[in-house]
Amino acid sequence: MRLIDRRRLLQLAAAGATTLWLPRAGWSQPRLTRDPFTLGVASGSPDDTSVVLWTRLLPGDASSLPRGPVTVRWEIADDEGFRQGVQAGQAQALPELAHSVHVEAGGLGPGRWYFYRFMLGDWVSPVGRTRTLPAPDAPVQRLRLGYASCQRWEHGYYAAWRHLRDEQPDLVLFLGDYMYEYPGTPGAVRWPDGLWVTTLDDYRRRHAMYKTDPDLQAMHAACPWLTTWDDHEVQNDYAGVHPGSGGPDVAPLARRAAAYQAYYEHMPLRASVLTRALAGLAAGAELRLYGERRFGRLARLMLLDTRQYKDLQACTSGGRFGSSSLDPAACPAWDDPGRSMLGAAQEQWLDAQLAGAAAGWTVLGQSTLFGRRDVRPGEGQLLWNDGWDGYPMARQRLARSIGRHGAASTVLFGGDVHENWVGHVKADYARAESASVGVEFCGTSISSRSGAAERVPERLAENPHFVFADGHARGYGVADFTPQLLTVRLRGLDDATRRDSGVRTLATFAVQAGQARVERA
Ligand code: FE
Ligand code: CA
Repeated sequence: MRLIDRRRLLQLAAAGATTLWLPRAGWSQPRLTRDPFTLGVASGSPDDTSVVLWTRLLPGDASSLPRGPVTVRWEIADDEGFRQGVQAGQAQALPELAHSVHVEAGGLGPGRWYFYRFMLGDWVSPVGRTRTLPAPDAPVQRLRLGYASCQRWEHGYYAAWRHLRDEQPDLVLFLGDYMYEYPGTPGAVRWPDGLWVTTLDDYRRRHAMYKTDPDLQAMHAACPWLTTWDDHEVQNDYAGVHPGSGGPDVAPLARRAAAYQAYYEHMPLRASVLTRALAGLAAGAELRLYGERRFGRLARLMLLDTRQYKDLQACTSGGRFGSSSLDPAACPAWDDPGRSMLGAAQEQWLDAQLAGAAAGWTVLGQSTLFGRRDVRPGEGQLLWNDGWDGYPMARQRLARSIGRHGAASTVLFGGDVHENWVGHVKADYARAESASVGVEFCGTSISSRSGAAERVPERLAENPHFVFADGHARGYGVADFTPQLLTVRLRGLDDATRRDSGVRTLATFAVQAGQARVERA
């Protein structure tokens, strides 16, 4: 399938997300003999009056869908039985957007839970539950956030999602590697399809495969998600407009545009995230994921994008694309202040946001480990050039901005490294006496394996700004915010290769508001 013209995509997405009330004569409802709601439902991107409701039509026999638009009915109710209806309407599932549905349901009450479902002919989707955020000035007393990342299909099942669902979070913060582009590995727990993911059809097929998982579906149906991405939603180690490494050689910008479109199609995102093409990059379309949400006066949640705008990794060995671990002393570009992880526009936006009124907690959701992780014991350093370590001046700019504006109540959540790392955020990681400006919880993976779990204790000892690290457990984190206190529980699976795995608490941490200090609870 050819990439459709960018402007047309924007128009279609905007039209598809509009809440409609079509006369019945205008409906396009094919008679389907197979359930079209095989990928479940999801909600996300909430604010205090609205939320995005998502599904994608994919009957077992996809060819039974018409080539044109399909009219899907949707309902929101106060009760699970849909007796107390709140809103209803129709949305068009367009073939150009893989028959995905994005309803931007507005006019809802602040800080409230709702039920929703979709209907097509006699078929009814699973029921989803979602909520709006509290009004920005509401004196909110609690927020439960589940954070997670990295759900590589072939490495395990999603027992983590089942256990997080049991904890009834208000929101899921998903921090990247929603899907992986790999063909599959020998000895896989479950097999993708043996194909590298490079085209729009490939990305759609891979996203759909992930969404067939019942535990993932159930987590999406249980509460709204806020999502950002990392590299594998496109390609391992890609950086901005530069390709990463692995797999067939394909035009990087066309591949990125295909991956971004498929990501939009499969996530509960607002049509407004599809912004204009970047100047001069016809296929280098932007998908604007970064932004801020307020959870009453309790917290502001800022979602960052560390992939789309980042500069090329410095000094990757052999002059190849992709990442390396290296000694920064041997890399002149390492400390170049012109190099950025977020890109100039997002950096400026973030600094301005941080400078705004800072009542309550400041929560930054971003894709990777923030603090320095030197993996060479003793003399000298060995740092990974793809993470924040590879962009030390950009990291310092952000840490200083947090130090100036964060009121010592800033919390970073991250993913990517498939290990739990908990520590203090510093403007200068080279100086032990550098003041802590915030705290960091980089979470383990839902299923993706860690490369070096047994090396984690020596690496923890080498980097004393961290207070805890574990590489063995897959799982997720649960963050409970009150105005005075943040409590974070790291939850670890017994065995991510088993669908029925149990879970336990690896460690619990406490952070007092205004203290920029994390302690084992
Ligand atoms: Fe990952
Ligand atoms: Ca060292």
